[in-house]
Amino acid sequence: MAVIPLIHSPIYDLNLPDTHKVSGRKFSALYSEITTGAMSTRFEPHSHWPATVKDLTLSHDPDYVARFQNNLMTRAEMNRINLPWSVQLLERSFLMPNGTLHCAKLAIENKIACHTAGGAHHAHHQFGYGFCVFNDLAFTAKQLTQQRIADRVLILDCDVHQGDGTIDICQGHADIFTCSLHGQRYVGPKRQSGSLDIELPDGTEDKTYLDMLYKTLRTIMRDFVPNIVLYDAGVDVYFADALGKLNISLDGIRYRDKLVLDFFRNKQIPVATVIGGGYSKDPAELVQRHLSVFQAAADIY
Ligand SMILES: [Zn+2]
Repeated sequence: MAVIPLIHSPIYDLNLPDTHKVSGRKFSALYSEITTGAMSTRFEPHSHWPATVKDLTLSHDPDYVARFQNNLMTRAEMNRINLPWSVQLLERSFLMPNGTLHCAKLAIENKIACHTAGGAHHAHHQFGYGFCVFNDLAFTAKQLTQQRIADRVLILDCDVHQGDGTIDICQGHADIFTCSLHGQRYVGPKRQSGSLDIELPDGTEDKTYLDMLYKTLRTIMRDFVPNIVLYDAGVDVYFADALGKLNISLDGIRYRDKLVLDFFRNKQIPVATVIGGGYSKDPAELVQRHLSVFQAAADIY
């Protein structure tokens, strides 16, 4: 059994009111469950460091990065991100992209690595959106290909919302394949056209979802064999999620995460996992959902 690299930082937590859609303390709660529970011996924590402004401008407009860094964003821009500007938000926003990059590098060495955050897929080149400031997935894919660490990167986005920002940033890069499997209907950013987009009707249930996912993985492999997969294991596909409209059970999420990891493990393709979205009034219930991808990693590797 492999020891799985675990990327985390205590500064991921956000100090948000209980009425906010985002559970600000889910990151440390998740880390605590992983490192103190039955899986603890399977994971080895790794620390990382913030991205530089120069690093971030490979995937974001320099003016946007500078204005965010210096708290010069307009109210409308911060409303679009829907998180209040704070030094804490600033620090985690610079740290999280490098967390996913570090996770990917460790995955290449170890076949698997897991990040306790990440999946900021609504962040575009020039603006943030929907709780996402800088796009860690697009950042990582672009850094990996530019640094020639990987020739072909697959971003597999199973969050219930489309990875519209990821598509915006990665468009035109033949070495990055963006696949988003998401709900057909939700209020939010305008849909983009990525390498492969699968839209699922409201109320989609486990069997249809898992069949479609498996078919999608096979379709991707016909067109694009990646050196590494960045897997957004968003849990807002859950039937009781506060923002999602699909009808996926907790067992369905667990099966999905195992299916993805098992599929790429069999093909000897490394996978870096990020947690993506998940929304609930009950933080403990939400942590149980996010634990799924870590449990799948512990079971499969
Ligand atoms: Zn989402």
